[in-house]
Amino acid sequence: MAESDAYLGGGRMVGDRDWFMQGCDRCRQGILSGKADNPELIVTSVRMHAHLRRCWFCAAWWEDGEREAHVVEEREARVLFPEAFDG
Ligand SMILES: [Zn+2]
Repeated sequence: MAESDAYLGGGRMVGDRDWFMQGCDRCRQGILSGKADNPELIVTSVRMHAHLRRCWFCAAWWEDGEREAHVVEEREARVLFPEAFDG
């Protein structure tokens, strides 16, 4: 297993981008553990089969999907999860 790979719970994997470049230590660990410091759930998209989460420590947006999770830029988050930005 390459250093950049990491398992999420339930057989999910992180995205193929460099894991250690994403977010901060706290939200990466939170995404992996699903417990402490898991980025705050902003919205769940049935269409995307994914959650949008935000880390309040580093302000990263996370697309947290069924099979993997990765950081997205805010403009991507707005496209993927417009319901989170209504109003
Ligand atoms: Zn973070």
